[in-house]
Order: sequence, then structure tokens, then C-alpha cells
Amino acid sequence: MSETVDPRAIRRHRHETRMRLLEVVAVTDITPLMRRFRLGGDMAGFASLGHADHIKAFFFPEGVEPALAPIGPNGAEWVGERPQMRDYTPRQWDVAAGWIDLDFVLHGDGPASSWAATANVGSKLVIGGPRGSQVVPAAFDWYLLAGDETALPAIGRRIEELPTGSKVIAIIEVADAGEEQSFETSTDLSLTYVHRYGAAAGTTSLILDAIKATRFPDGTAYAYLAGESTMSKAVREHLTSQRGFNPEYVKAAGYWLLGVADAQEPH
Ligand SMILES: Cc1cc2nc3c(=O)[nH]c(=O)nc-3n(C[C@H](O)[C@H](O)[C@H](O)COP(=O)(O)OP(=O)(O)OC[C@H]3O[C@@H](n4cnc5c(N)ncnc54)[C@H](O)[C@@H]3O)c2cc1C
Repeated sequence: MSETVDPRAIRRHRHETRMRLLEVVAVTDITPLMRRFRLGGDMAGFASLGHADHIKAFFFPEGVEPALAPIGPNGAEWVGERPQMRDYTPRQWDVAAGWIDLDFVLHGDGPASSWAATANVGSKLVIGGPRGSQVVPAAFDWYLLAGDETALPAIGRRIEELPTGSKVIAIIEVADAGEEQSFETSTDLSLTYVHRYGAAAGTTSLILDAIKATRFPDGTAYAYLAGESTMSKAVREHLTSQRGFNPEYVKAAGYWLLGVADAQEPH
């Protein structure tokens, strides 16, 4: 008897957790508030199969040179004060050439944003992971991608990775028109940017309002929502309670929480 395989089943992959000490080889301001760091070093064994994957980046106290820690049974065994960890999306990479690009929102506060504001060619960054990947198949009728600028790396990856002709609706909140990014894609993409025009990130209902005003295509969709946690939850609630989305096909990631440091939700 042959087993039926659900073509829409989400596939999960584990990766060997590896820490890497990398060095900034190039810095590019994609927009005034989004800075791309190309980090060079040993990328052997690196794998990231899903657009929503993340690496952990480690930020050391002032005056402490970034360095790798030995891995014990409970993870990295740091000597002295533990570095701060924050999650970032592998935007693009080349294992053979030995580099990875990470895009940092320059939002102001916090060890990650402060590092990104001051790091330069030659600065070091320790990263770990991804520990795993979730792969959402290209078998859905259409895809909804929504989020603030922290989700641009993941949404950009998704838009670039989906096969030709995939129907995609993307709704992205940024500070203003100068923060918009465009993507290389052969998908059937409807891309809408909403602008905060001076309001602080995480304080508006722009994404939810834009989604409420959007007429969705027929068929079964997969929604990927990411950004400020309260926004992400509110959009999920709207999609599942008002718009007929199957909760299994909505991934709502809380990437950060307004007013709270290091506050990403389990994902
Ligand atoms: C799976 C995953 C992938 C992610 N990928 C990326 C990525 O590729 N690029 C990226 O830039 N971010 C990404 N993020 C979000 C990033 O990890 C958070 O924004 C993180 O809080 C930044 O750390 P920090 O040290 O700068 O600030 P924290 O020390 O964490 O926070 C300090 C203060 O800043 C506020 N804050 C945090 N982030 C923002 C923001 N974006 N805008 C305004 N205020 C903010 C907090 O509310 C807090 O008040 C990702 C998060 C997750 C969970």
C-alpha cells in the first residue's frame, strides 16, 4: 500500500550546530536604515534551507575581543560574562567562497544595532547555527508575506526563492519610501509598502490595516508574518478568525517586542 504524502506538509531539518568566528569584509548601506555586512571566514558545513531560518549573533562586552567558546553538554562555555545573543536571517551566502550576508536594521538601541552602527571592515562577529530549517513547500495556491523591516531579509529570500509564477502578496512596513527594497523574482508578485512617516516602529497598525483592505485570491495560502510581536499576533488573529486561514498554515514570528530588549518569541 502506498502512503500518501501531503504535498503541503512543512518539512523540518536539523543541522549540526556550529559556531563561526567571521570577519567583516564589506559593509553596504542598502537603505539609510538597513546595513548589510558581508562576513568572511570558514563557512564549511553551513546550511540554511528555509527563508525563516536564523543564526545567533554574539555581541561581547566592550573591550572583549570576539572569540569562539568550547561547546560543552549545555552549549557554548563562555569564560567570564556571557555575550548577548540576537537572531539574524542568513540573507545570502557562498560556502565555497566563504562568506555570508546579514542585513541589520539600524534601529538605535541594543547590542546588535549598536554593533551594526559602528562595525567596519575587519570587525569580528561570532555566529552560531542555523540549528534547523523549516521548509514550506511551493505547493500552496498563493503566499502571504507580511512584516516590518526586520522581516525584509526573510521576506526577500522567500520572494527570490519561490518558483517562477508563484502567486505572492507581500505587505511590508518601513519608515518611508527611502527604505523600500526591490527583489529579483520571477514570481507573480504583488508588493505593497506601507510607510510610518515619522511614527516609531512597532507603534502603528499599518500592516493589519493594509491586510484588512486587501482582497485575497482564491485557494489555500500559506502566511508568513514577522516583525514586532504584537503586530504579528494581531495579524495572525485576523487571518485565522476573519479571513479563513488554516492556523497550521500561518507562521507568525515575534522578532522583537516594543520596549523590551532581547524579546523574540519562541519560533
Ligand atoms: C528569527 C529572527 C530573525 C531575525 N532576523 C533579523 C534580520 O535579518 N535583521 C534584523 O535587523 N533583525 C532581525 N531580527 C530582529 C532582531 O533580532 C531584533 O530586532 C533584536 O531585538 C535586535 O537586537 P538589539 O540588540 O539591536 O536590540 P534589543 O537589545 O533586543 O532591544 C533594545 C530595544 O530596541 C527595541 N528594538 C529591537 N528591535 C527593534 C527594531 N527593529 N526597531 C525598533 N526598535 C527595536 C526593543 O524593543 C528594545 O526596546 C530577527 C529576529 C528573529 C527572531
